[in-house]
Formats: sequence, structure tokens, C-alpha cells
Amino acid sequence: MTAVPVRAAPAVPDLRDLTLPELGEWVTGLGEAPYRARQVFRWLWRRPVTGFHEMTDLPVELRRVLEARAQSSTLETVEVRASRDGTRKLLLRLSDGGQIEAVLIPEGRRLTACISSQVGCGMACQFCLTATMGLRRNLRPGEIAGQLPALRSALGPDERITHIVLMGMGEPLANFPAVETALKILIAPEGLAFPARRITVSTVGLVPGIRRLARAALGVNLAVSLTATTDELRDRLVPINRRYPLGELLRACREFPLPPRRRMTFEYVLMAAVNDHIEDAHRLAGLLRGIRCKVNLIPLNEAPEIPFRRPARQRIEAFQQVLERAGYVAPIRESRGEDIAAACGMLAVAEGQLDSAASNPYSDQCGVEQLGSSLGS
Ligand code: SAH
Repeated sequence: MTAVPVRAAPAVPDLRDLTLPELGEWVTGLGEAPYRARQVFRWLWRRPVTGFHEMTDLPVELRRVLEARAQSSTLETVEVRASRDGTRKLLLRLSDGGQIEAVLIPEGRRLTACISSQVGCGMACQFCLTATMGLRRNLRPGEIAGQLPALRSALGPDERITHIVLMGMGEPLANFPAVETALKILIAPEGLAFPARRITVSTVGLVPGIRRLARAALGVNLAVSLTATTDELRDRLVPINRRYPLGELLRACREFPLPPRRRMTFEYVLMAAVNDHIEDAHRLAGLLRGIRCKVNLIPLNEAPEIPFRRPARQRIEAFQQVLERAGYVAPIRESRGEDIAAACGMLAVAEGQLDSAASNPYSDQCGVEQLGSSLGS
């Protein structure tokens, strides 16, 4: 009788899923000197090569060992779509055939890379298109960090990515271990050497994840997608609120360590006659009192699958005024890349991709569907 493997481990480790210290352990486990890890790490992240055989400052014998015992997966750019406003969306193919999206957003002198943390999303926010995909699987660390080099190869000669936001597909804090490792790779001087203060992790409000991120002390910024000011409404729009209600969420935000002069961000997606009342704005100002923050007002991006509408401009501005009078910085985020479906909440790739959770150690499902009946339906 042949046993069916329940969870097949990857045949060989993907070295792009390791931080430098982890790679160090693995390399010394082969009987190699620790400095070899730094060499390999630099090749993996700073110099694009197609395989270990091209890592020319390594001894030939070590290159052979790496070829046999490790892999280094890359993301394949399937398509680049350019918006009229300069936004570019990349469709990236994962090694198992799954696909994700990553976006480049120019704003004045800034060029922001918006990257994904999961294939799909399990949070079921009622106004978000990615939610309609459900959660397919978690991304692995190398697949998260690897979006930066993929986006870089789509840049023009004078362009440089200045900011990274984990605001693409998925809920980053529902894939915490992989996101943490990816952040370490992005920040590491021998890795992608990206300044932590220019990286923002955006969450729907997973309180334990916010606390873990605080403890990890990576120096990255936090954004919280709030979008409602009462538990009654938030329970409906953002189902995870039933588990982590506003009071608890805001307490975790208040306790999140902020370096001097730094602010956290609250995202508020405005929907006509749902959460765009003047009373909502006053309540929001009250809820956030004492938190060093700014509020990004995001007029809803409409889609046929989404049962809400964008408020009239006048309502949006009236909402903004209340916040500004209460002393908040509250920019209205103009929609970017809408013509290529790259705008907030619009990332959803076509059906029919593989779910290869079996070989992915980061595949534990943590979506709302798995929260059980306490959430109702
Ligand atoms: N899961 C994380 C990361 C995704 S960020 C989070 O929720 O923060 C995606 C951002 O787009 C979130 O702020 C979300 O509230 C917003 N969003 C989702 N659907 C949207 C829509 N239809 N129009 C405008 N913004 C939307």
C-alpha cells in the first residue's frame, strides 16, 4: 500500500525564503564558512542570476552543492499594464502557477510599490474585490520580497522606488511569519536594503498581528483600514471586527510604538449613505483622539460585484473638513490606476489558478471562513 503524503515538504529549500541569519545556519550546516551565506544572499537579492551556477565568486564545488540541494525561485512577469495616470500593474506568476498582482504608483516625487501578501484574501470585507476571490494561499517570504525586484525591472531609466506598502492582495498580518521574514529581507543591507521607515504594513485590524508587529521592532509603519466608527457597522463591512472590535483594535493602535515624528495611518473607505455622514466624521475624530496619525480618505472604487457606491465629491469634502477642523491631516486619496483595475481593493486575478497549499509551509489558512460560526454569515 502506498501512503498518500498529506503535506509534501518542498524537495529542497528555496533559499529566497530565508533571512540572512537563517541562510547562515543552512550554509554552515553544509560545512561551509559563514561568510559564504552573505555571498549567496547578495546574489539572491542584489544581482539577478538565473541559477547558482552563475554565482561566480563561489567555489565551483559549492555551486554544485547548491544546485543539488537548494532552489531559488523567481517571479515571472506575465504582463505589465500601464494606466493613463502612470500607474503600472504587474501580473506575476508564482512557481506553482498561481498569480498575484503588484503595482507601481507614481505620486509627485514618490514612487510607491504596492505589494501583495496572499493570493486572494480571506477577510471578506464587503466592499473589496480581492475578497471575492477568497483566500487561495499565503505567499512565501521570497514571493513577497521578490515583488520588489520584479517591479524594479519594470522601471524606466530615471525611476526609483521610494516607498513600499503592503496594500496589494491579501491581509499581511494573517500571513505573519512570511511577512516578517520578507520585511527582514527587504530591510537587510545585504538584501534589498530598503529603509524600514519607508515601508508600511496595512492591516484590516488583526489585533494579535499588530502586537506581534510591534514586538518584532522592525521600524516599519502601520496602516489600519478602519472604514467604520461603530461596531455595528464595522461588524457588517469588515467581518473580522466581530472578533477584534473597535475598542480592542484602537487600544492595540495606541500601544503600537511610534518613533518620534512618525504617524500611523488610518484608511477610511468612503461609501455613500453607509459611512459618509457628518456624524461618522465626528465619531472618527473622537475615536482617534490622542493617536499620532493621519487619515487617508479613500472614495470607494466601484465594481459590479460590490454593492456600494462612491459618495458625491461634496460629501467627501464635508467629511474631510470635519476631520481637518478637529486637527487631523486627512487627504482624499485620488483613485489611481482605475482604468487598469489597479486601484485600492480592485486587485483580483482571474479564476482557475492552482491552490498548492500542500507544499507551502506558510499555507495555514487564516481567513474569516476559518473563524467558525461565531461570525455568522
Ligand atoms: N488587508 C489589508 C491590506 C490591503 S490594503 C488592509 O485591509 O489594510 C487595501 C486597501 O484598499 C484597504 O485600505 C482597503 O480598505 C481598501 N479597499 C478595499 N476595497 C476598496 C474599494 N472597493 N475601494 C477603495 N478602497 C478599497
